[in-house]
Amino acid sequence: MVFAAMKNFRDFIYQRTFRYKYRIRWALALFVALIVILLYQFDVLERLELITLDYRFRLRASQPLKADIVFIDMAEDSIQDIGRWPWPRSWHATLIKAVSDHKPKAIVFDVLFSEPQDPADDGALEEAIKGSGVVCLPLLFDLKEQSAGSLYKGEGVSSLIEPLPQFAKYAEDVGHINAIPDMDGILRRVPPLISFRERTAYQLGLKVGMDALGVKDGDISFYPEKHEIVAKAAGNKTIKIPLDEKNQFIINWKARWGKEFKHFSYINVIKSYALAVKGLASPIDFNEFRGKICVVGLTAAGLTDIKPVPVENAYPAVGINAMVINSVITNDFIYSLPRYWNMLIILLVSIIVTLYLSNLRLIGGMALATMGIVSYAVLSTFIFGVFNIAVATFYPILAIGLSYSLTSLYAQILQSIERARLFRQATRDGLTNLYNIRHFNLLFEAEFRNASVYKSKRLAIIMADIDNFKHINDTYGHQAGDTILREFAKIIQSKCRQTDVVARYGGEEFVVMLSGAGQKDALDIAEKIREGVQNKKFRFKNDNLGTTISMGVVEFSKEHDKEELVEKADKALYKAKEEGKNRVCVG
Ligand code: GH3
Ligand code: MG
Ligand code: MG
Repeated sequence: MVFAAMKNFRDFIYQRTFRYKYRIRWALALFVALIVILLYQFDVLERLELITLDYRFRLRASQPLKADIVFIDMAEDSIQDIGRWPWPRSWHATLIKAVSDHKPKAIVFDVLFSEPQDPADDGALEEAIKGSGVVCLPLLFDLKEQSAGSLYKGEGVSSLIEPLPQFAKYAEDVGHINAIPDMDGILRRVPPLISFRERTAYQLGLKVGMDALGVKDGDISFYPEKHEIVAKAAGNKTIKIPLDEKNQFIINWKARWGKEFKHFSYINVIKSYALAVKGLASPIDFNEFRGKICVVGLTAAGLTDIKPVPVENAYPAVGINAMVINSVITNDFIYSLPRYWNMLIILLVSIIVTLYLSNLRLIGGMALATMGIVSYAVLSTFIFGVFNIAVATFYPILAIGLSYSLTSLYAQILQSIERARLFRQATRDGLTNLYNIRHFNLLFEAEFRNASVYKSKRLAIIMADIDNFKHINDTYGHQAGDTILREFAKIIQSKCRQTDVVARYGGEEFVVMLSGAGQKDALDIAEKIREGVQNKKFRFKNDNLGTTISMGVVEFSKEHDKEELVEKADKALYKAKEEGKNRVCVG
C-alpha cells in the first residue's frame, strides 16, 4: 500500500517535471518567479513585507527579559516635584550617587549632556560620574538624510553632538542613540556604528551590552561585507552580532513597554535615597539595583521621543536601548535571510505551486492555493519564533497567489479549447466540416417551431444530391469522390447567406435550411449553387472533373409538419433527377 502510494507520487512528480506537455507550466512558473523576484529586488512591495515581519513580532508572545535591566523613568511625577525640564544637573548627580551605592552594573542615561549649564551643577555631575564609574552616556550624530547608507564610513553624517568632555572623560561607555525608521515610519533597526571625522561610535545599547559581557574596546571588529560584528568577550568567548543586508542591527523586540521591564520613578529613587541617608525606612529596596543595568530616560508626556515600533504604536525611544542591551547580553538576535536565499524560496514556491499543486478544478485549486499560503505563513512564523530567522514572507505568498492565478487561467483556457474541440466533433461532419445531420435536426426543430408560431416567419429548405456520383467514384476512385465532396461543401457555403444552416444529410446529399427565406429566395440561392457546381472544375491529381447537382426546394407553410416538409423537399429533388438532373425543382 505505502509502497504503491510512494510509487504513484514518484510517477506524478516525474511526469510533471519532465513531460513535454508541462513545458507551458514551467514557463508560467519561471515567469511568475521572475516577476516576483524583480519586485523583491527593487523593494516595490517592501511595506507589505515589513507588515508581515511586524506580525511575526506580535505573534511571538511577550517574553520575559533575561538580561537584568531596570528603568528609572523621568515621568510626570518627577516633573511635578523637580520642575520644568531640563533639570539642574545636580539632580542627576544625586540619582547617580543613590544608585551607585548599591553596585549596579551600569547606569545608562538617555539624556544628552552636550551644553554647559550652571558650573556648580556640572561640577556635581562630573564628580558623580567619576565616583560611580559605571555611567554610560549618549551622543547623537546629525544625519543629512534618513537613510542607513554607509554611516559607518561617515557618509551622510553632518555633525556630532557629544557629551561635554568632562563628563565623557569619566563615562564608562559612550554610544550613539541614532535610530532610522524604515520607509513606513516604523522603527525596526538601528545603525550599529556611525563615524564622523575621526570619531566612531557604536550604538549605545550595543556598547553597553558588550561591555557587560566583558568586551574591551579594541576587541570589537565590524565586517560590513559579512554583515557582522564580532567581539571577544570575557573568558575568550566570541560574540557574533548579525546585521541585515544594509548593515543595520535588527532590534529584537521582546516585550512591550511597561510589560516585563521593572520601572522605578526617578523622583522616588531620589526621595528614598534622602530617607535612607537619614537612616529612615525607604519605600524602595535599593538592592533592586544591585548588578542591574539601570536605564534612565524621559518618559513624561511631551518630552519623550516616541516612536512606532513593530510591537507597539507608541514606544519611548529609551526602550530601544534596553532591547538592544537585552539582545546582546542574552545572545538573542534576529537574523535576516540573505537575499539570494529569499529569491530561491520565491523560485521554489512558484515551481511547486505551478507544477505540482495546481489543480484543474477551480474550487480544488483555490483550496490548494489557500492551503499553500497559510502553510507558508505558518512556517515563516514558526521559523521566526523558534530560530529568530526572518525569511521573506510577503513575496513568496505573492508568488503562490500569482502562480495559482496564472495556472488556473491557463487551465481554463485549455479547458475551453478542449470544449470547443469536442463541440465541433459532436456537431460537424468529419469530411466536409459541415454540420452533421444530428445537429442539423436540432437547429431545424427550433427554427421549425418558430415558423409554426410566428405567422410572419418564413422558412425554406433546399435538398441537394450530386448527379452520377457513383460514376465518379467508380471511374476515378473513392478519393476523387471525397475531394469533390469537400470542394462541393465549400461551394454551397459560399453561395448561402451567413445565417443559413448547411449540413451533410448523408452520402453525397446535402440540406440547407434558409431561415427567413421564401420560395423565391431559396430558388435564387439554389440556382446559384447549381451554376457554381456546373462551372467548377474539380481538380483531382491531373484530371479536371466536372459534375452537376440536382436540388429540391420547399417553402414552409402552416399545414406542414416537420417530416412532411423534408419529404416534400425530397420529392422535389427526385423530380429534378427525373427531369434530367442539373436542375432545381419546387415542391
Ligand atoms: P444520381 O445522379 O441518381 O444521384 O446518381 P448517383 O450515382 O449519385 O447515385 P446515388 O446517389 O445512389 O449514389 C450515391 C453514391 O455516393 C454511393 C456511394 O458510393 C457514394 N458515396 C456516398 N458517400 C460517399 C463518401 O463519403 N465518399 C465517396 N467517395 N463516395 C460516397
Ligand atoms: Mg444520393
Ligand atoms: Mg447522387
